[in-house]
Amino acid sequence: MRTVLDARTASGYGARMRRGIHDVLDVETALAAADTAARLRDRAAASEKFSGPAARRALTAAVNAPRFPGRIVPRTFVKKATAYLAQDGIVLFDNPNALLICAFKRDQALCGPSPDATAPNQYDCQPGCGNAVRTDTHARLLRERADSLDHKAAHAPNPVGKRLKANADRLRTIADTHGATARTAEELT
Ligand code: SF4
Repeated sequence: MRTVLDARTASGYGARMRRGIHDVLDVETALAAADTAARLRDRAAASEKFSGPAARRALTAAVNAPRFPGRIVPRTFVKKATAYLAQDGIVLFDNPNALLICAFKRDQALCGPSPDATAPNQYDCQPGCGNAVRTDTHARLLRERADSLDHKAAHAPNPVGKRLKANADRLRTIADTHGATARTAEELT
């Protein structure tokens, strides 16, 4: 983990426990979002293609995302992190379970975030959401996951095997959709 809170932040956490927990979460979330933005920039630089309704918005957000270099997080960073997370629609969340990047915009989210949420309910990610973005890497991982499910299906009794196979087919369909619709960063921006 790249975050190392400095002693001042740690003592603030102890003195103001409730706010302190939120501060720590904000810092961790902002750093993770900055990492996700950096990964998206790297994939664009590697000529990967992007698909999904939020692809253009995510690429723009990634280019403009703040850089948070270094491993020590000063106390002053808390305000920056909170302000960054409050910008609806430009904070990027990696969702390895759904194999996508979520450019979280509250009023488009299908995962039922609360009215003042600054982050998605990633474990309730829904297909067809307007905040979803996929890259070529996601498509490759979707196919790998589908192959793994097929392998399990071949050794599982029905109806479990059928369900696994159906899931594998669903993942391949998502990967195929990416392949048919993805565009380069240059084409999108
Ligand atoms: S449904 Fe998925 S893509 Fe949409 S906001 Fe929620 S986590 Fe993000």
